[in-house]
Amino acid sequence: MPVNSAKEEEEMEEIRRCPFCGGRGYVVTSKAKRKELYYTCVKCSICGSKGKTIFSDSDPEKEGAEEKQICIEAWNKRADA
Ligand SMILES: [Zn+2]
Repeated sequence: MPVNSAKEEEEMEEIRRCPFCGGRGYVVTSKAKRKELYYTCVKCSICGSKGKTIFSDSDPEKEGAEEKQICIEAWNKRADA
C-alpha cells in the first residue's frame, strides 16, 4: 500500500473558509442511494452550507478524478464574492 501522499494534498487547491460563518469547508463524496451515481460537494463543517454539487457515474475518490477540484474551485469562487 502506498504511503498516503502528502504530495497529492499539496496539489489539491486549498479550501477557503465558509462565506457565511467562517467555518472550515471540507469535501464530501458519497454514493447516491439507489442510483449508480456518486456526488461530490464542499460542505461547511459548522453551518453545513454546501457549495456546488457534482454528480458523476465514476467514483470521485479514484485517481485522476476532477470532481473534488471542480467543487473546491466553485466553493472558493463563492467565498470571493
Ligand atoms: Zn458555514
